Amino acid sequence: MAFVETRDFIQVTANNGKTNFSYIFEGNEDERLFNSKIHKSKMKYYSKEAIKEIEEWSKKGYGIYFLPNGGGYRNDEITEFRACFIDMDIKDEIEHEIIAAGFTGSPNELQELVKSKFYSLNSAEKTNYKQIFRSRVSELKQRGIPPSAIVETKNGFHVYYLLNNDTQRHQFETLEGFLIYIFNADMAVKNPARLLRVPDTLHLKDPNDPFTIKLEEWNRGIRYDAEDLIVRLRTVIEKVSIEADSQLCVNSRKAPTHNTKLLPKKRGLPSRIAIDYSSMDVGNIPLISKGFKGLPELKRKLELDNQDDLCYIDRDDIRQFLKRQNLKHLLGIDSDRFYCIFHNSSNSTSGNIYSYDDKWFYKCHSSRCGVHYDIVQIIERISRLPIHKAFDYLKELYNIAEIKTEWQLDQERLIEFNIEFLERFKYDMDLQENYPYLTKFLKTKGTLGLLIQIHEVARRKLPQLAKMRNMDSSNAIVFAPMRKVIEELLSENSDLRNINKANTKVVIMIFMYLLNCVGVDQLPIEMQRGIEQYQKESRKNNIIHYNNIARYYEIVSMDTERLILAEEMSKFFYQNHLTISNFNREQLISLCGVEEGNRVFPDRSEEEIPGLNQSISKEISRVVNNLIWEKGWTHESEIIEHMDVSGFSLKQLYRDNFKYIPKKKSVELDSIAVLDNDVGFQKWSYGFLAKKLSMNIPAIISNQEYRKARVNKLLRKQFDIPIHIKGFVYHQEISEQGKQLEDKASHILRLKQHDLSLSNAKIASLVGCSRQYVSNVLKCRD
Ligand SMILES: [Zn+2]
Repeated sequence: MAFVETRDFIQVTANNGKTNFSYIFEGNEDERLFNSKIHKSKMKYYSKEAIKEIEEWSKKGYGIYFLPNGGGYRNDEITEFRACFIDMDIKDEIEHEIIAAGFTGSPNELQELVKSKFYSLNSAEKTNYKQIFRSRVSELKQRGIPPSAIVETKNGFHVYYLLNNDTQRHQFETLEGFLIYIFNADMAVKNPARLLRVPDTLHLKDPNDPFTIKLEEWNRGIRYDAEDLIVRLRTVIEKVSIEADSQLCVNSRKAPTHNTKLLPKKRGLPSRIAIDYSSMDVGNIPLISKGFKGLPELKRKLELDNQDDLCYIDRDDIRQFLKRQNLKHLLGIDSDRFYCIFHNSSNSTSGNIYSYDDKWFYKCHSSRCGVHYDIVQIIERISRLPIHKAFDYLKELYNIAEIKTEWQLDQERLIEFNIEFLERFKYDMDLQENYPYLTKFLKTKGTLGLLIQIHEVARRKLPQLAKMRNMDSSNAIVFAPMRKVIEELLSENSDLRNINKANTKVVIMIFMYLLNCVGVDQLPIEMQRGIEQYQKESRKNNIIHYNNIARYYEIVSMDTERLILAEEMSKFFYQNHLTISNFNREQLISLCGVEEGNRVFPDRSEEEIPGLNQSISKEISRVVNNLIWEKGWTHESEIIEHMDVSGFSLKQLYRDNFKYIPKKKSVELDSIAVLDNDVGFQKWSYGFLAKKLSMNIPAIISNQEYRKARVNKLLRKQFDIPIHIKGFVYHQEISEQGKQLEDKASHILRLKQHDLSLSNAKIASLVGCSRQYVSNVLKCRD
């Protein structure tokens, strides 16, 4: 009879009768190490033939197992969830008793204690434990949930509840969690591909005391709808929690706070979109999912109603305040570890709320989800509010008022107007006509974007500044630290990969009165401290340009007066062929004087221009003046050729340059002799002098009223410039008569005749007029 009943049990549990038998070695521990492999049987049905095979393996010391669920051998392969099951074991019971008695040692000590207690049990005591297990199963039966099967094992029971064949993985996992809690069952016996002992086979872990696994109860007609069973088990858990005399749910450490596996999923994958927080039966989460609608009730629950407003100016301060709020309290979750609420979790400890540095965080330990959130992000996810609304939600919840000072509002408007105005340079024809040179400058790649970026950074800094500033100051200014601007610019604008370039552009903009540079000592004290810190770090990390990058600017109104000045400066730049990459403090001082130099570079007012630079400047201006005085014009290579550099220790400078290369020892370099005909040195010194020339020439041509121009026919004729000289030349002012020889229109026509391939833009730059004018002239001729 036992055979028929066991066959029925296995065939019914394993839906269509098919199952997988496995053999696991159970001999003494040493042998077990060498025999750890699980042997899979080819037998698919519990037949007489299978029993023969099973008996053979049993004789060899193997335990006999079968796989109730179907679809494969691995957990992630299982697709057919045929039954949920638990394993009640005496050791679990002992462990619970020890902990309930107040055990405080390590997990290892606990293990040892459990083992020694277990081995000291006599058979009567073991029977007592089994009696407790039986009474638990029957208590659940009395509450309307009878088991489908009970299998007695050596130290406890396996209890089965058959499931309908449409059971989903998340339902199975939820049921396992509930049943483990209800029965204080083994936490390990819950995986989909779990192997369980076949009745009528031997438990052989103690070869001297084999035990025959017994099918104690078998009700083939009892089968559950998974969803229905979940609801019923949940009701049991709720009832037991308020009844003191129950034998169920004794071990609160196994309580599933909740299980996200209950939540709907898309195509079997954990889906963020599909999680329905309103149906989640956890703490305050359904309430939070209602968003603003649930807010009054949540406030009452958290006792935050009837509290006075907290006033903050700075949003960062609000964020810091919010991060300090107890997340467990907010979410209404008591335990530290629980089923992650952001993915369909089967792990009852994947979700974790912890505090660090008096801030609270949420962390998921699952590799599939792994979220790490602060309070704002949690609210965004649960309430599905957009980022700013989630922030507002928390502000309202914790009674926070975000106030703006009058100064802040005023500055916000100024920045807004400035940005709007700058944007207009892209399309407003009137504006472009009024300020043609400024337009040219702003349309240089990246410049307009950088200027707008500075405004944006300043806008974000406003609350911080409002907090730091002396509020009654009428001369309100906004600071935008350059480092921040450049960092943001480099991350967003691919045009400007080079920090120095970006920085030079800004220097010119200050010069052009569109921004005012301010010295560190003009900043609020708090900010000064921050800057000191930054400069220290920069020095430590050997960032040479920290001085330039950590400059601060005030954003000023772009009113007409300022724009006229900016237009004048732009014109000056344009006419002197100054490009944005060759302009610095030295040039500014030689062009506009020390006062202007100090206004634009307030942090460097004490700094002297190096002696070498000064003598090179003198030499350059001597050579340029001589050459132009002699023949009326000159050009770069001629100037450099004529320079007397015998007084400068260029060779030492050349060597010093290599000291920037790490790993090269300066002592070694000092001893290297640099020969006059060293090609590397010659190349380097030409480049060095050319750089100095381009730095000094604007001041020279400005002071002496020379001109810089691309060679054209007129100039060639005027100064008898040889045909092999190309590009830019520096020359004397051409006499009024000479200028009148040719008006712009005929100049354009002649250029086009001379070289048909010249583009309109090229002609425009040669003649010094607009492209539109060139095309007009050319059209008229046709
Ligand atoms: Zn998660």
